[in-house]
Amino acid sequence: MKADIVTIFPDFFRGPLDHGITRRAAEMGLVKIEVHDLRRFTHDRHRTVDDRPFGGGEGMVLKPEPIFDCLEQMQLAPREQRLSGAVRENVIVLSAQGQRFTQKVASELATLNRMVLICGRYEGVDERVSECIADRELSIGDYVLSGGELGAAVIVEAVMRLLPGAVGNEASTRQESFTAHTNAGDREGPDSTCGSGGLLDYPHYTRPADFRGMTVPEVLINGNHQEIRRWRREQALKKTLRNRPDLMDAVELSEEDKKILARMNHRRD
Ligand code: SAM
Repeated sequence: MKADIVTIFPDFFRGPLDHGITRRAAEMGLVKIEVHDLRRFTHDRHRTVDDRPFGGGEGMVLKPEPIFDCLEQMQLAPREQRLSGAVRENVIVLSAQGQRFTQKVASELATLNRMVLICGRYEGVDERVSECIADRELSIGDYVLSGGELGAAVIVEAVMRLLPGAVGNEASTRQESFTAHTNAGDREGPDSTCGSGGLLDYPHYTRPADFRGMTVPEVLINGNHQEIRRWRREQALKKTLRNRPDLMDAVELSEEDKKILARMNHRRD
């Protein structure tokens, strides 16, 4: 995959993209990330990228010309082809007004050949960028940041770890929080039986089994794979109900899940 990031702060990405899985994915040739300095596409002495908003009001707005110029030199496929899915390219504007970036969107983006991320600043980006040259607007959450750079780094990291080969143990990315499908019963053993199915992940523990008197749940040490699987599923259900009950609507509950939930309700009564 090729990932292009358009920003007025190219140095911002030196840190976040130089570590862990993102770096590994780049070194393995799974992804090529190019950071484009928007000021290179200005034509005045002051390298101006922003201007006052029409209609008045606070702050400045990123001008359309440098962004259009920058995207045009990338030689992307025509927008109609991108929007129809004829080519696997996507041009994304980071915006608090965008669609919510979720694990599902990350999986969609992981199937692309090319993804362009446009980072806004100030009051935002001239709307003609979203209307005429970009394909979608994405928000990383319901809060306002000062720029799109953190959002772009979040999207790159979430997408990179879904590229086949990027994460050492690929099964681990299939079992994480929010992952839509469940792989319960795929194979023998506790590690293969806890696909999240849209739930939050279950709790994890490592050595020592007794840390300052805080002990690891007995079930994880007894080696009974069926019991471990059931316990993990119950914990995932519990955690989702406690922290993110909104996710429960989209979860396909198995007969076993329903029994676990009934038992949990019974215990609460
Ligand atoms: N005036 C905008 C609004 O109220 O929606 C906020 C602009 S914000 C100060 C500047 C830039 O930060 C935006 O253009 C966008 O690129 C980025 N940004 C802010 N919040 C974001 C979010 N939740 N997700 C993605 N990008 C965000």
